[in-house]
Amino acid sequence: MTAPDLLALARPEVPPLPIYNAGLSSEAVRARHGVDRIARLGSNENPYGPSPRVAQALAGLAQQVLWYPDADSSALRAAIAARSGTTAAHVVVGNGSESILQMLCLALLSPGERVLAQRPAFGLHEIYPRMVGAGVELLDLSPALGFDVDAWCAALARGPKMAMLANPSNPVGCMFGTAAFARLLDATPAGTLLVVDEAYVEYARLTPGFPDALPMLRDRGSAWIVLRTFSKAYGLAGLRVGYGIASDAALVQLLDRVRTPFGVNLAAQLAARAALVDEAHMRQAVARTVVQRDAMARALQAMGLRVAPSATNFLFVDLGRPNGPVNEALLALGVIVKPWKEPGFTQFLRITVGTDEDNALCLQALRDALAC
Ligand SMILES: *Cc1c(COP(=O)(O)O)cnc(C)c1O
Repeated sequence: MTAPDLLALARPEVPPLPIYNAGLSSEAVRARHGVDRIARLGSNENPYGPSPRVAQALAGLAQQVLWYPDADSSALRAAIAARSGTTAAHVVVGNGSESILQMLCLALLSPGERVLAQRPAFGLHEIYPRMVGAGVELLDLSPALGFDVDAWCAALARGPKMAMLANPSNPVGCMFGTAAFARLLDATPAGTLLVVDEAYVEYARLTPGFPDALPMLRDRGSAWIVLRTFSKAYGLAGLRVGYGIASDAALVQLLDRVRTPFGVNLAAQLAARAALVDEAHMRQAVARTVVQRDAMARALQAMGLRVAPSATNFLFVDLGRPNGPVNEALLALGVIVKPWKEPGFTQFLRITVGTDEDNALCLQALRDALAC
């Protein structure tokens, strides 16, 4: 078949979708530029990795892989529930929290319904709703590279079916503080599902004023879900496991109907349970990263660059010039970051905070790249 025929076979929503921009792998950069040392600062991974308990938990895995995993992730859900002051019936686990975003769209959205999200945002906040035919309204940042709380409240009051609210934001790093978050909750009508994506909550808790969302949400009468992940602070990005804590067991049961039954594999379930047992390891890594983030922000500012305030493990940096050539120069020096490609943000790089060595390599490469 020719390409036009195939396009006619597709659902009309699909051909215009952008492909998620996952960035370049270390192998690709090594092969293309012949560099040995790579600083992987493109995907907000935790360079310190998971607790040693994860390796112990996975040691006997080869003998177990003939069995399907527990389709309900029962033990993992119970462990998450116990730590979040809820019950397993309110917890959903997915193949990364991105898969829970997809389940939410499949279960709740019909073509033509409206979803509210931020621009710039985590790409899947827009891609998954569009995939099922929903319309996405994107709100702009404030001039100071923060959330525009008034615009969010006004747009929420118009009653979208769903609101994708990352707190803190990826890629910007900004956050809704406690008072702003309370205002958002007040502005949200009962018919809107509030999706609070807290992928970076473990980092953000170290920023004064970051809201403790769960108790605030529990005081509301309507539907919400808080999404979290083992990919960032817990250092398990390669295993793909994330979770949601929902207002109602009935919401989890809706998601059970659309999810892939064995989506969270055996290794992911074992590793996530082991990681939860060693919170101290996670907290240590997070604390180190936060200190390094602030040092990195000061160094970038000293180079004359504008850096958005961040409550996360990355920085959104305004180069004041197109990011493409700078990114190419960084790649040639072995530094992988994320050049933002949306209109209006093509002067920005999102830089993950790495180890001291990674960060030093990145800063020196940026100085070199910007000098020419
Ligand atoms: C990283 C990230 C996620 C998804 O993480 P998973 O690896 O799919 O669990 C979700 N939301 C935001 C905002 C993220 O940055």
